[in-house]
Amino acid sequence: MVRGDGPRCPRCVLPPSVCFCATLSSLEVQTPIAVICHDKELRKPSSSGVFARLAITGLRLMVRRDPAIITHVEDQRRAGRTPVLLYPSANAVPLASIEGPVALYLAEGNWRQARKVGLREAPFPTIQHAFLPPVPARRRLRRHPKDDHLATMEAIGHAVRILESEALGEQILRTYDRFVDAVAALRGWGDGDSIADDQARRENT
Ligand SMILES: [Zn+2]
Repeated sequence: MVRGDGPRCPRCVLPPSVCFCATLSSLEVQTPIAVICHDKELRKPSSSGVFARLAITGLRLMVRRDPAIITHVEDQRRAGRTPVLLYPSANAVPLASIEGPVALYLAEGNWRQARKVGLREAPFPTIQHAFLPPVPARRRLRRHPKDDHLATMEAIGHAVRILESEALGEQILRTYDRFVDAVAALRGWGDGDSIADDQARRENT
């Protein structure tokens, strides 16, 4: 959570001191991507999935339980794409094993919220679920009970490496890193500090 009531960039919601909107180039991803989030996430500067829509052209942000989600999934099917939720349920398959074009869905929020979307919220329990191969750890803003739980924009970057190109996926990951560095600077974290370091510091003071 970012503290303070100072001026904010109307686009990325970050204070002007760390906003990097002016140098943000738009990344053209061919795969339709939709991030499903709680409406509270829309106002949190630490939501990488919400931030991702500023960097990735065409990324859809949809609020949970919006009836438009079901229509969106049906439209993707009609267009010949397989709707895929990136969520490691028991029925999930490796993303790379899915043949043909896909439409990618991701749930923003903590692991419990992601679980609710994946297992309970129509139409997601009934569409194809997929998981990513293990990836190297990166700096993150949120703590997850499992270290392999990726931030939303980080997951998008790795998915695009698989679905489209290594170079485009890496560009997304580099933009994610810049976003994390900006929010971390705002929180007063040291270089390279992650959420675990931040919590350790609080416990020691
Ligand atoms: Zn901005």
